Amino acid sequence: ARILVVGGGGRENALGWALARCPGVEQVLVAPGNGGTTALAGCRQMAIAETDHDALAMACRAHAIDLVVVGPEAPLAAGLADRLRSEGLAVFGPGADGALLEASKRWAKDLMREAGVPTAGYWAATDRQQALEALARHGRPLVVKADGLAAGKGVTVADSLEQCRDAIEEVFAGRFQSAVAGEPAAAPSLVLEERLHGPEVSVFALTDGRSMVLLPPAQDHKRIGEGDTGPNTGGMGAYAPARLLDAAGLEQVRQLVLEPILAALRARGIDYRGVIFAGLMLTDAGLRVIEFNCRFGDPECETLMPLLGPELARVLLACAAGRLEEAPPLSIEPRCSACVIAAAEGYPGEVRRGDPIHGDLGDAPDLQLFHAGSRRTEAGSVVTAGGRVLAVVAQADDFDTAFERAYDGLGRVGFEGMVYRRDIGHQVRTRRPA
Ligand code: ATP
Repeated sequence: ARILVVGGGGRENALGWALARCPGVEQVLVAPGNGGTTALAGCRQMAIAETDHDALAMACRAHAIDLVVVGPEAPLAAGLADRLRSEGLAVFGPGADGALLEASKRWAKDLMREAGVPTAGYWAATDRQQALEALARHGRPLVVKADGLAAGKGVTVADSLEQCRDAIEEVFAGRFQSAVAGEPAAAPSLVLEERLHGPEVSVFALTDGRSMVLLPPAQDHKRIGEGDTGPNTGGMGAYAPARLLDAAGLEQVRQLVLEPILAALRARGIDYRGVIFAGLMLTDAGLRVIEFNCRFGDPECETLMPLLGPELARVLLACAAGRLEEAPPLSIEPRCSACVIAAAEGYPGEVRRGDPIHGDLGDAPDLQLFHAGSRRTEAGSVVTAGGRVLAVVAQADDFDTAFERAYDGLGRVGFEGMVYRRDIGHQVRTRRPA
């Protein structure tokens, strides 16, 4: 099979790597890729932006692509999968309708209510007066969520009513309106949510719209600083499997969350083929869905891919074809996977760019180096080109060893101004790497 992976982050580097090692995969193309995908064995890079649907469709024809795997949410929300399917292509990734699960918090909350999926209570508002009144009636701080894709920046978990009011004003001042490139900005709207407490865990299901395969639960680290302090980032590291959910817990997620949401999607006439990412909070009153995303998490994808077996390409192809039951069972290694992100100085703010990246981890087993914000220069060197630059991932029989190996790998690569957290996986580690 010939596979096109759309996207240019660490997630897509990991997807390209995992798919290229599946038997029966002749070639993996990555568009636009990054400085890491240029060097991946069996992969070829194409300089096509994820927003350029025409050029992507043309490349699929020119390269006789059998399967397109769309990494990021923005092209899905913008209808890339619909466009490619209309040309007869098999696509792993939902259409714009299914992508609303992530692109509209209000739509997703309504669907959860309809499906009976456990989630925080909420009030939707389309004008500031309505929102301020709902807050006043509640009388306690609520979580304020701008509707639409805001790259993780549209959510305020406020501690005081005043902070809530400020966040509401910000949303209706139109601060989160850029949403999907090329789409006209919708009128501001928001969801106010009851604040929940408890550890968070992510569950990923690969689905053809009816059946699904669950991946090991993962936990990521959103804050830039050690001890989970400082501003939010795209994610500074992750590990899997998270012990917060054992096999019975995962089964509960399937029955209480994933099966009902898929049924509700079908009831709305949505044929959802791709990843459903459930962000869960484990509260004293039981599990609650915080959010759904319509794609793999990043860095959870880098963390999980090395655990998945050589059937992955056939499983994704079967999901895209709507025939998951015909795929071989996906083997999942019962090992511990640890992922640490190296970011550029300044992240998550303005970062320095253009610093040469040195080092290489070679072909060591159970150790991977994936690139995110990097690019290959015309002279052939690889330099930093974004906030999160590298992901080092290691697998072992226990988390202490897995993290020691990941940090050891990180010590052998780098760039000027490299920033990383030394406490990734602190929940499951008993020692700190030297
Ligand atoms: P991201 O893209 O970073 O995942 P997002 O913009 O899609 O974020 P959410 O995942 O809904 O937004 O919320 C971001 C974070 O805010 C959550 O990971 C969680 O820590 C916190 N949060 C969201 N909703 C609640 C809630 N109801 N109670 C407590 N904390 C919440």
